[in-house]
Amino acid sequence: MIPVTKTFLPPLSEYQKYLEKIWQSGWLTNNGQFVKRLEKKLKKYLGVKYIFFVTNGTIALQIAIKSLGLPKNSEIITTPFSYVATTSSIIWEGYKPVFVDIDPDTLTLNPEFIEKAITRKTKVILPTHVFGFPCNIEKIKKIAKKYNLKIIYDGAHTFGAKYKGKALTSYGDISILSFHTTKIFHTVEGGAIITNDKKIADKISFLRNFGHNGLYDYFGLGINGKNSELHAAMGLANLKYIKKNIENRRKICNHYNQLLFKNDQNLIKPKLLPGAELNYSYYPVIFPSEIQLLKTLSKLNQSDIYPRRYFYPSLSNLPYIKDQKMPISENIASRILCLPLYYRLKKKEINNIYSIIKQSF
Ligand SMILES: *Cc1c(COP(=O)(O)O)cnc(C)c1O
Repeated sequence: MIPVTKTFLPPLSEYQKYLEKIWQSGWLTNNGQFVKRLEKKLKKYLGVKYIFFVTNGTIALQIAIKSLGLPKNSEIITTPFSYVATTSSIIWEGYKPVFVDIDPDTLTLNPEFIEKAITRKTKVILPTHVFGFPCNIEKIKKIAKKYNLKIIYDGAHTFGAKYKGKALTSYGDISILSFHTTKIFHTVEGGAIITNDKKIADKISFLRNFGHNGLYDYFGLGINGKNSELHAAMGLANLKYIKKNIENRRKICNHYNQLLFKNDQNLIKPKLLPGAELNYSYYPVIFPSEIQLLKTLSKLNQSDIYPRRYFYPSLSNLPYIKDQKMPISENIASRILCLPLYYRLKKKEINNIYSIIKQSF
């Protein structure tokens, strides 16, 4: 069976070494030694000022939004082409997601459409660097500056991806990462909030920990967003392999590229902006029609190969979203498929996937 992804696991003996130290210390959570060490290493790896390791990418988004202390009824401009957590977090925090359609080439929020969507209630722009393809960072920044808006990037897919030589997560007022098992770098469950702004960082540090100011005092309202020593240990064990992991995925993607795009014109790939460096976390391809996609998918499934329709449906079609039709996102969502991509995927298997796709046309 070939799924869309398989979790990367470090050698068990390496994880066990961390477990032994955790058993010795008896300290399992609440800002322990491995949480601190992981945050320190990630800060260096990503080249950012502040990073907070939290329980998952969704709580990272929610704390990021909460940290801005927005007035009631605020509107947040966001992308309809992302995972559901991008939209649901906005609503969970009590704000209104206002979709702006995507650029059909990069699949990210189209900056040309943003200004039309801005109202007096707009306070934040929350785009996603979907599949690790960067948004138009310069244009979004310019608009945010003009209208005095904050930018939160959903960078759940971006670990190891770069833009103009810097980590993609170093842009925006706040960025978040997901370290879920299905992501390129994982801590089983986990995520991070990243910022270079000290004021925001101070706020996030108490929001993550019940609002605590020491043992018996509180800065304000908070939630439990802390992650554990066992999760941090998985991160430390995995971090050692991230370079190898990305390099290996790059080779797999190149092999797919050779097969799918050298002679055939059947499929389209999203476009990467100049200055961008992928982390090869996904391999998305766009079909000429949904009918063709379903035909190819069914042929692959018959051979026990299971790509995924990331991201389908377009978030503008969620049952709790009303009257926000996004034609480009809905069209792309109906035609896009992520092909299998993981550490141990073999050349032979890729060749087989390719020949099934080719025959299905
Ligand atoms: C995975 C993902 C999230 C949520 O992360 P979790 O760690 O699973 O909570 C948010 N946004 C995007 C784009 C994602 O793919």
